[in-house]
Amino acid sequence: MATKTFSMEEVAKHNTKESFWLVVDNEVYDITKFVDVHPGGSQILYAHAGKDATEIFYGLHRQEVLLKYKRFKIGKIEGAEPQISIHQPGDLSAVPYSEPSFWLGYKSPYYKESHEKFRTAVRKFIEEEIKPIAAASEEAGKSPSNELYAKMGAAGFLAARVGPGPWIKAFTPFGVGVEEFDYFHEQIAHEELAKMSYPSFADGVGAGMVIGLPPVFNFGPDWMKKKIVPEVLSGQKRICLAITEPFAGSDVANIQATAVRTEDGKHFIVNGVKKWITNGTFSDYFSTAVRTDKGITMLLIERGEGVETEQIKTSYSSCAGTAYITFTNVKVPVENILGKDGKGFQVIMYNFNHERWSIIAAVISSNRLVLEECIKWANQRVVFGKKLTSQAIIRFKIANMAAKIESCQHWVDNMTYQMTKMKYSEQAIKLAGPIALLKFMSTRVSTDVSDDACQILGGRGITKGGMGRVIEAHQRTFKYGSILGGSEEIMADLAVRQAMRSMPNSRL
Ligand SMILES: Cc1cc2nc3c(=O)[nH]c(=O)nc-3n(C[C@H](O)[C@H](O)[C@H](O)COP(=O)(O)OP(=O)(O)OC[C@H]3O[C@@H](n4cnc5c(N)ncnc54)[C@H](O)[C@@H]3O)c2cc1C
Repeated sequence: MATKTFSMEEVAKHNTKESFWLVVDNEVYDITKFVDVHPGGSQILYAHAGKDATEIFYGLHRQEVLLKYKRFKIGKIEGAEPQISIHQPGDLSAVPYSEPSFWLGYKSPYYKESHEKFRTAVRKFIEEEIKPIAAASEEAGKSPSNELYAKMGAAGFLAARVGPGPWIKAFTPFGVGVEEFDYFHEQIAHEELAKMSYPSFADGVGAGMVIGLPPVFNFGPDWMKKKIVPEVLSGQKRICLAITEPFAGSDVANIQATAVRTEDGKHFIVNGVKKWITNGTFSDYFSTAVRTDKGITMLLIERGEGVETEQIKTSYSSCAGTAYITFTNVKVPVENILGKDGKGFQVIMYNFNHERWSIIAAVISSNRLVLEECIKWANQRVVFGKKLTSQAIIRFKIANMAAKIESCQHWVDNMTYQMTKMKYSEQAIKLAGPIALLKFMSTRVSTDVSDDACQILGGRGITKGGMGRVIEAHQRTFKYGSILGGSEEIMADLAVRQAMRSMPNSRL
């Protein structure tokens, strides 16, 4: 259908409550039915009736608002075209530093065409299928539905987030086959999900699986891998990792949950509690650290009699299903051991590198999104008659953020490259220290980024929704990255202790 065109003179005639038109970026909107329900009140609108409201609109609204109310668009100004690009699902951003450099035309030794196609497809999938549900779910504290999990499973998005392995053959995430799929594809999947900027919902759609399934496919017996891995990756079932207890967080070796063998030796009876278990409220399986007579042991526990989960309210929404779990006389077959009886500590440590690396990818990506928002805002916000970008101190803050984010990006790409070249066991030895150091670095960067971003956005940076939505969500949740999967102090300490292991007998 041909787009109707109007002259500005014609638009100007519609300047009353009964017929209220205005123009945003050369497109004409009839908002007569909207004036009285405008969230900012009707009064603020009257000064713009029948006029071009582009500057004031973008000064006060995110572009999403235009898309939300596109039904009011009736045509465009004759002889003129929209000048401001409208983001479409899957689009890259051309804002400086808003994407890792390869995506903006720079060369890379790591990324190939299949990564490029994968990123576009993943971004489109998230923007079309996950993001539209995320906002309302975060507000309501509602966990992701079974339907959404099934969709993610069918697209191969869940499989992509646990990385390369035989399961890729069955799920071919977004068309990438098992021969091609590598840790860079997985990194992209974590980065893109973080870019949604709904942190609790993002954790709700599988953070438990990212850390809870690897113990099954790396250490579980064959029967378990055959049953559980496809159930979880297709989205039929959920899994999480249950290590932390009220008595043992950083100090994993201090866990107190017990698993006692029955007299016939066929089962364990598990008793104990677990705290802050991501996705725990809606998980079917729990990769759980317990203490047997042989020492710390990992067990796969299925939800059933004696397993109770309760929501813990944290700074972000309840979508993530953060749980307090009570195991009371839970009967678990001995075949459910992950690895060996008494060797659970190794399983836990083995798992940590991948968990921390996935957190790092998400942290850097969410910092980058914050930077993009700051650059856009500083370029459009006029204060004291000048754009914020015309102030040297604001440019300094942008530089401060960009430099740190770029450094972390190059570092994580290097870690990912090492992961593509090393066996899992080699990674566990050689990468534990550097990954811990990078996690420490990237979450320290989050702290600085949040600080700078809040200052650039001003009041909006601490206001829920609206222009500062991303910045506010980031400042409320960046600490999750600093604490989960090993807190900053522990990461810094581990990194240096690991480094000192290979310290030569060298003197000043
Ligand atoms: C929202 C959320 C989700 C989580 N999800 C999961 C999950 O899915 N599965 C799971 O098992 N756990 C999960 N956790 C637990 C998380 O891994 C722990 O919170 C984390 O390991 C830190 O343990 P803690 O909170 O008990 O802190 P503590 O161990 O009590 O430490 C408190 C502070 O002291 C510092 N500290 C501790 N020891 C030292 C030291 N030797 N030197 C210097 N400083 C030290 C720490 O860095 C920390 O800042 C989650 C936690 C939260 C809040």
